[in-house]
Amino acid sequence: MMTIPGKACAECSLCCKVLEIEEFAKPAGELCEHCLQGQGCAVYHDRPQVCHDYECLWKNDRALGPQLRPDRVGTILMEDPDSDEYRAVCDPAKPMAWRNPLVFKHLVAMAKAGRIVVAKAGVKAWRVHPTGEWGPCI
Ligand code: SF4
Ligand code: SF4
Repeated sequence: MMTIPGKACAECSLCCKVLEIEEFAKPAGELCEHCLQGQGCAVYHDRPQVCHDYECLWKNDRALGPQLRPDRVGTILMEDPDSDEYRAVCDPAKPMAWRNPLVFKHLVAMAKAGRIVVAKAGVKAWRVHPTGEWGPCI
């Protein structure tokens, strides 16, 4: 996929901490053992295919500005592969990062556009509604 100018991961490696990677048993919320904080992947040229293939939504959506880079807002925007949910996935250490005004405004806009919007941090999850109301998923 063509890289969009200004959309490099750069110092961000939030996905290397926040996401579960089943292929090599990395739990969600734990920094990958190969991740050098601020420097990226220590095994970049030999990284697993799943890492090679992964790109968060920020990287491919021109409408998401530089200020929404995941490490800047503590939130990874992504489609859930198993449902229709549009997700804001946060570091369990900062579970309410999705309440950042920039992120929250975007989430409400997505809900208004008809998406099922869910914020997640570890096992916790919240639904964001088109009205701007939000609450825990039950
Ligand atoms: S969360 Fe997105 S911007 Fe950050 S390292 Fe992963 S793919 Fe790159
Ligand atoms: S192997 Fe590299 S790219 Fe994959 S999660 Fe670990 S640090 Fe990130």
